[in-house]
Amino acid sequence: MKKGIVILGSTGSIGKQALEVVSIFPSALTVTALATKDDVSTIVEQIKKFSPKIVSVDSEVIKQKVETLLGVSKTQIVFGPEGLLKAATEPSAKMVVVAIPGACALTAVLAAIKLKKDIALATKEVLVAAGEIFMKEIKAAGVKIFSIDSEHSAIAQCLQGEDPKTVKKIILTASGGPFLKTLAEKFAQLTAKEALQHPTWKMGPKITIDSATLMNKGFEVIEAHYLFGLDYAQIEVMIHPQSIIHSMVEFVDGSVKAQLGAPDMRVPIQYALLESKRQGNHWSRLTLAQMTKLEFLAPDKEKFPCLTYAYEAGKAGGTLPAVVNAANEEAVKLFLAGKINFAQIAQKIKQVLERHENQPNPTLEAILAADQFARTQVL
Ligand code: MG
Repeated sequence: MKKGIVILGSTGSIGKQALEVVSIFPSALTVTALATKDDVSTIVEQIKKFSPKIVSVDSEVIKQKVETLLGVSKTQIVFGPEGLLKAATEPSAKMVVVAIPGACALTAVLAAIKLKKDIALATKEVLVAAGEIFMKEIKAAGVKIFSIDSEHSAIAQCLQGEDPKTVKKIILTASGGPFLKTLAEKFAQLTAKEALQHPTWKMGPKITIDSATLMNKGFEVIEAHYLFGLDYAQIEVMIHPQSIIHSMVEFVDGSVKAQLGAPDMRVPIQYALLESKRQGNHWSRLTLAQMTKLEFLAPDKEKFPCLTYAYEAGKAGGTLPAVVNAANEEAVKLFLAGKINFAQIAQKIKQVLERHENQPNPTLEAILAADQFARTQVL
């Protein structure tokens, strides 16, 4: 039987690639619901190709635009937060791909988990801001969580067949971003255009900037803590500019397992959608003979303080990770809009962290309130 899949964020970079994966495994996967914010022409194309039962968009105005362009269709178009919830909880779906930013993802994913749907997670906010709550719900519902992130997918692959108790540490690799070799003194002059040129991965603008500041890696550290139940002292970050080794696990006997592959997000997406089962595809292959070198270096924590902010927030727990996430999102927005320079992203985040009073064991409401607080503090 085909597995029904919901894709929240189907017109973004991850969403489009998830649909590509669905289309090469038509006997295993089918799309039952999609959600986009406001990309009318792309969503109409996707509806025609995949005939989902439900499609959620941002507003009634967008809904009307989609319906006009679409013409006669069996797909029901819904909108707003209730629409998103309807898409996330579409009854015939078995798995929800989460690739939308922001707080609306949190509510939608919680609802899907309660209805016993497996989660394929690309949105970092979910585990970064509310990891404890989510992992508790996932356990209670007995559903599975798969990461759509090359690093966590690599770790999950390395852990196959292993006893989790024998893990000494994990090593998350990072490309280092476009400014790996740029002097820190130059950071105050760097613009969004320069930061958007990621050396190895093709991604959306927000995550590309997060890669340049290493905040993305910091968030992945927090995610790894929850996904694999590891202490922060067991999670290491290593710069690996070639992005060929996607992450590694060191075991108690000194053995290190690594997962390698061409830098292509469709591989971790496929691994998640097919629930860790291997199947052939036509994506590009790794040609080891063409590889002249694989480099590794420790991250420069002074040059990239965001990595430390994320580690500290993760270790402190409570509402602090949500605050780092929201402050970062707002600072990156200002940077992308040309209002602040690259160096100021980290400075803004630091200011907000100092102003926030951390709250231990928060409810989802407290997390959302902390998120709001952080956003108002980034000016
Ligand atoms: Mg990643």
